Amino acid sequence: MIAYFPEILPDESLYSLVCRYKKYNFPLNHHHVTQQLFGKTHIAVRPDLTVRLKEFSDRTFHILKLDVSDVIYKLTIWPFYFHFLLPNRKGLLLDKLKKETQKNFLQTSGLLNKYFFGSTLPKYCPVCMADAYKYYGIFYWKKVHQIPSILVCPIHNCFLKTAKVNEKEVTSFYQLVDASQESCDLNDVGIQQ
Ligand SMILES: [Zn+2]
Repeated sequence: MIAYFPEILPDESLYSLVCRYKKYNFPLNHHHVTQQLFGKTHIAVRPDLTVRLKEFSDRTFHILKLDVSDVIYKLTIWPFYFHFLLPNRKGLLLDKLKKETQKNFLQTSGLLNKYFFGSTLPKYCPVCMADAYKYYGIFYWKKVHQIPSILVCPIHNCFLKTAKVNEKEVTSFYQLVDASQESCDLNDVGIQQ
């Protein structure tokens, strides 16, 4: 049973929480973490939408008190995304989010469409990152910045940036990028590398 899970910070994404869980449980690798949280080793946790959320809810409910609908609506971009779906697709994709594999979900979601600008790397606003560090002492990935096609922070009106990863991680489908001074360019907001 999972004994600890990070406290959810304002607008924090599920991806961010999984990254922090992995960091606190070092040296667990990606596959250990997804086995513990999603009941399966080989799943890619995406910054925007991740599958097997019923399993995640079941495994963390004793700590987070979030049922599967709460997880979907509070920790993913689904509340934005579903507006772009035809009514007959909404129920189908919602069901896939709860139970399916990532491959089955992505094939029908449209997130792989290049015109939708979905990303496997998290995006961030440098000012939001600096604020997070100031108020909470950590960096984290916000949900609102992971919405495909959103290029500007709705709070600060500055362009979003994409996380930097090392070359080994770029080619890996399974990657959890920590929000940090290494993965984020924060020089312009007074946090030096
Ligand atoms: Zn911002």
